[in-house]
Amino acid sequence: MRTILVMPIGHVDRETIDFITGAIRETGECDIIQGEPIPVPQKTFNARRSQYNSTRILKALEGLKPDTYERLLGVLDEDLYVPELNFVFGEADMIARVAVIGLPRLRQEFYGLEPDRALFLRRAAKEAVHELGHLKGLGHCPVPRCIMHFSNSLAETDMKEAKFCAQCRNKLNELR
Ligand SMILES: [Zn+2]
Ligand SMILES: [Zn+2]
Repeated sequence: MRTILVMPIGHVDRETIDFITGAIRETGECDIIQGEPIPVPQKTFNARRSQYNSTRILKALEGLKPDTYERLLGVLDEDLYVPELNFVFGEADMIARVAVIGLPRLRQEFYGLEPDRALFLRRAAKEAVHELGHLKGLGHCPVPRCIMHFSNSLAETDMKEAKFCAQCRNKLNELR
């Protein structure tokens, strides 16, 4: 089974989950299940930083991932961090095959800009496909347009396409 489970953590609007699922499907994955939302694990919240620790969320997801699913992607509409960084857009645990993405920083309005729903959805889809690529065992890719390119900023995210370059595609096929 190569099923991907896409699981909202707390409230995530339906359109976003559907858009993410559609983008994953467009990369050639056909077995994707949308799970029921789970409550946000409150012990992952850091009150001092007003952010959620993404590594701890991965730990919580690991315990929830049924063996019948190959990969689990959690989607959280809260700001994420790891202790050594100010924030992360997402994090993946390649061994446990669970990943999480955080949505707030993908919105223009987070930076005081005009809302752009279409742009937000594209960014969310890209972060999702990127983390799922990691869960397949792919590392970062030097090709700037490739979805596996490391993005440190939204400008870099916006430059990427929601698909794998030829080389990453070949690697994926070997890993399947
Ligand atoms: Zn990455
Ligand atoms: Zn690539």
